[in-house]
Amino acid sequence: SPGTFRRRTLLKVIVLGDSGVGKTSLMNQYVYKKFSHQYKATIGADFVTRELQIDDKLVTLQIWDTAGQERFQSLGAAFYRGADCCVLVYDVNVLKSFESLSNWHLEFLKQANPANPETFPFILLGNKVDVDGGHSCAVTEKRAREWCDLKGSLPYFETSAKEDINIDEAFLCVAQAALESGGQPDM
Ligand code: GDP
Ligand code: MG
Repeated sequence: SPGTFRRRTLLKVIVLGDSGVGKTSLMNQYVYKKFSHQYKATIGADFVTRELQIDDKLVTLQIWDTAGQERFQSLGAAFYRGADCCVLVYDVNVLKSFESLSNWHLEFLKQANPANPETFPFILLGNKVDVDGGHSCAVTEKRAREWCDLKGSLPYFETSAKEDINIDEAFLCVAQAALESGGQPDM
């Protein structure tokens, strides 16, 4: 309402996971409501933003996209600095992308070096649940949730960037988790 002062909070979110799991597609669906079948490898690192309101707070999610493992070593500490939340993504149809999650988790902690490694907010997305009507799923939801429990009760969402399934819900959870972890007011 007019006259109400609302602080705008900028939350930095880093999206990690193997090449091809759908990181860029998830972000494009969330921010632009668009999906493309074309595979275009992400070069380096880039971000998109979306604003949302949580209770009486306006927050800006600044979501950082990354290229695959081969390029990611060169991103360096500056890329991770000040991260408020890390989104880990795998493809439910590709076992290897699930098996890589522990490495991505570890790599994030090593590079970002958060003050609160035990409680730093991670969220897991199992993407491409639309493929083959879910029949080609290589990783069961149960197995994914067990991994989340091992890492400290991480929230888990099964998503489809193609069919726009669970994406708003997942990023709302990201924003809430990032806020709780103490996102820095940016002005
Ligand atoms: P990234 O390397 O992790 O950024 O993956 P991309 O977003 O570039 O996606 C890799 C490929 O998977 C592209 O051909 C996308 O069109 C496709 N893709 C991404 N998300 C989904 C999804 O939810 N369902 C289906 N069927 N395909 C997807
Ligand atoms: Mg990409």
